[in-house]
Amino acid sequence: MGIKDLKMFNLVLLGKWWARLVNEQGGLWRRVLLDKYGGEGGSWGEWITEGQNRGSSWWKDICKINELIEGKRDWVKSGFKLVIGDGAKVSFWRQVWVGPHSLEVMFPRLSYLSIDRQSTVQQMGEWIGGSWRWRLKWRRRLSTREQDQETQLRSTIQNVQIRKDADNKWWWRYEKDGEYTVKSAYKMLTTTEEGDEIKCLKRCWNSTIPLKICAFSWLSVLGRTPCKVKLMKRNIIRQEADAKCSFCAEIAENEDHLLLCCDFSRKVWNKNLAWWEIKYVMARSCKDAFLQHSWAGRNQKGWQVIWYARIWALWSTRNRRIFEAKQVSIDEVFHMVQYNSYCLIKSKIEGWTYSFADWCNAPSRCRIVKVPKPRLIELEQGELI
Ligand SMILES: [Zn+2]
Repeated sequence: MGIKDLKMFNLVLLGKWWARLVNEQGGLWRRVLLDKYGGEGGSWGEWITEGQNRGSSWWKDICKINELIEGKRDWVKSGFKLVIGDGAKVSFWRQVWVGPHSLEVMFPRLSYLSIDRQSTVQQMGEWIGGSWRWRLKWRRRLSTREQDQETQLRSTIQNVQIRKDADNKWWWRYEKDGEYTVKSAYKMLTTTEEGDEIKCLKRCWNSTIPLKICAFSWLSVLGRTPCKVKLMKRNIIRQEADAKCSFCAEIAENEDHLLLCCDFSRKVWNKNLAWWEIKYVMARSCKDAFLQHSWAGRNQKGWQVIWYARIWALWSTRNRRIFEAKQVSIDEVFHMVQYNSYCLIKSKIEGWTYSFADWCNAPSRCRIVKVPKPRLIELEQGELI
């Protein structure tokens, strides 16, 4: 098969173990491994996170396999598609099991309103007279707009066949029979096809937004911002202690933590939500957060701009802390988001006559009617940084 890249070939071999771990649920060898390293598992993510800090380097590499190839983050995860059986152990909101993204990403407001946020697919319905019925419950009565979203959600899930007593199966997208093979995985990694990820990345290039901010958004979705974890990989930072988050100084600084999960950034995010009067479940990765903004913003172009304004404000704040030793408060970052988003829209959208006070008071009422045609800029991944 003409293997050229040995490192990649080794990863592809590790991928085979990954595939076995997720699909051979009843295997004794799997039980032994999970007992030793990762505790009880079953759904994506649980044993993987736990396993990263324990065990042999082989096990750690398996756990980190989705992060080991630059520019192909989540290559194993996104290479598999989940075929639902009985729906046990599959998180209804958080895992990707129907449609291109998790339901939490596609329907963030409904996810927030659900009383069953932790439930599995199996727990979100019941068998009545031999047929499956979904049972969606909300914390309060839904508004008309939310009811529309519920209808969309129901039509998204209604065609999924829940099968009693059948195992869920991870289906490898690149082979006809759904079985993971080294050959197809290597081919997938070494050919550049326009997959879901690339389409998502292209959407980062928004004509309303200055290039440098588009580039930063693109890098954050790709997992390639020059945050401290990356600097450590390149030996620019040598001590693990120096690679801690610039805001909280507790957790290793990667883009998902710095821009989303850190307490500091989360508070900025909460202020954004309150400002827009939106209730959302926050995504845990930059890619999902970006998609949340683009999905939810189909009628609210301004909300899409907030994504850029927010990550840029956080990144500038982080840089000022590091390079100028300047502390910027959460309120100041939030005002930066308000001000910058206003300026970005005002400077690019003709006929958008709202005042800054209008924008601060009720952003969703400051409708953007005409949006310039998006300008897609093709860039090779290697051109930046
Ligand atoms: Zn932090």
